[in-house]
This record gives sequence, structure tokens and C-alpha cells, in this order.
Amino acid sequence: MGDARSQVERAALAAALRTYVEYQRELGALGVPLAVGAPAAGGPAEPERPTAVPAATGDLFTAPGLGATRTLDELRAHIGDCRRCKLAPHRTHLVFGVGNPRARLVFVGEAPGRDEDLQGEPFVGRAGQLLTEIITKGMRLERGDVYIANVIKCRPPENRNPEPDEVASCEPFLLRQLELIRPGVVVALGKFAVQTLLGTKAPITQLRGRWYDYHGMKLMPTFHPAYLLRNPADKRLVWEDIQKVMQALGIAGGRP
Ligand code: URA
Repeated sequence: MGDARSQVERAALAAALRTYVEYQRELGALGVPLAVGAPAAGGPAEPERPTAVPAATGDLFTAPGLGATRTLDELRAHIGDCRRCKLAPHRTHLVFGVGNPRARLVFVGEAPGRDEDLQGEPFVGRAGQLLTEIITKGMRLERGDVYIANVIKCRPPENRNPEPDEVASCEPFLLRQLELIRPGVVVALGKFAVQTLLGTKAPITQLRGRWYDYHGMKLMPTFHPAYLLRNPADKRLVWEDIQKVMQALGIAGGRP
């Protein structure tokens, strides 16, 4: 009798949960934030790494099977020859990401440009060379010490801004990449990446230079290197942001 009642209660709970999830999906939710991770500001220099990789949060709604991936290679295999959005027919390469799978620092850009699409690696064009200089000359690290990825894995035609359905298809993959790497710090490069990850329309000039929480990770917004190529005077501001990142990681020119 007690068992029968608890079965009914479980069924009611499952139905309520299903309704809630469907409602959230209609609102455009990608997932549920992780409870683990670093505080938004002033946390320890080296956040604790969870021993087990938590199940992906985005997949519950948008990408079935994502939570089963346990390494970046498995995640890449899961994405496969992706046809989930309308960018697929335009790309040469899907640009997954590159770098240290256990990096304490991840840079996130917008989407591959022409050079990245041709080579299959993020940030290898002119903007990429500037990012590499920030990493090597500014931070005194190697590109291979950090991890570099984009919100969108395929080049939008003519480098147009990515569209909401493309973000909805692709952001769960970035989130899973970050869940698997578990960096202490994520640096979001430029207006598009920052506004997408933080879910805000606030201008980058207002957002940059402060710490935010992104699914339990410390996130620092700063200007995109492509913007710096057009506005070199603002390199000074990016250097201020990068110094905060180096402080949070506990490095003053050493490896994270
Ligand atoms: N711009 C980006 O946002 N990402 C790249 O990979 C290259 C240029």
C-alpha cells in the first residue's frame, strides 16, 4: 500500500519535473548551472578540482548523450560530422578547440574566421596572432599551456554574427568542454562571447575587467583581439584585465 502510494507520488513528481523542463526549454534554457566551482570573486588562487566529472547540464534539454562524454576526445567524437545547425554546409573544418585538456585558463572567442575554418584551429589568423602574443609575451606562457575555443564551432558565412539557433546548438558543447577541463578561469573575448556566456545585452565596455560566475567558473570578459587590431590604444585595458587573471591564477609570468 505504502509502495503503491510512493509509486503514484513518484509518477506525479516525474510529470511535474517533465512539465517544468519543457517550460524551461520553451523559455530557451540550455541547462542547469553546476553547483561546484569557484566563487565569482576573491576566491582561492587554485580552485579545487572535482574528482569526478559531473554529468553535462546542457544535454538534459538540447543534446542527448553529451553527459556520457568523459574526455575531450569523446566529446569531439560525440559532435562528429555535425549537421545540427545551418552553418554545417558552409564550413571547411569544424573548429573544436586546442590546447591543454587540464588547462587552468581557457580563452573563449566568438566563432572561427576564414583562417580558422581552413586550418581547423581557433585563433590562428591576425587576431589569433595577437592572442598568442598576449599569452606568450604578456603572460609568459605557451599557447599549449592554455585551452582556446569558441562559442560557435563552425564559421558563419562572411563572418556574420552567429544567430540564436546556432548558439543554442553549439553552446552546450562549449559548456561540456569547460566542464571536462574545469579551468580556474575563463577569459571571454569580445562582445559576442561575453554577452552570450553571461546572457546579457550590456556593452562590453561595461562588462570587461570584472569577475563573473559562469557555471561555477570565474569568468573575466575583455576586448576581442580583432577589436584591438582596430583600436590598439585599448591594449592597455586588456593588459589590466589579463593581470587580474594572472593574479587569480597565482602566476606572475609562470605556468598556470
Ligand atoms: N575570432 C574568434 O572569435 N575566434 C577565432 O577562432 C578567430 C577569430
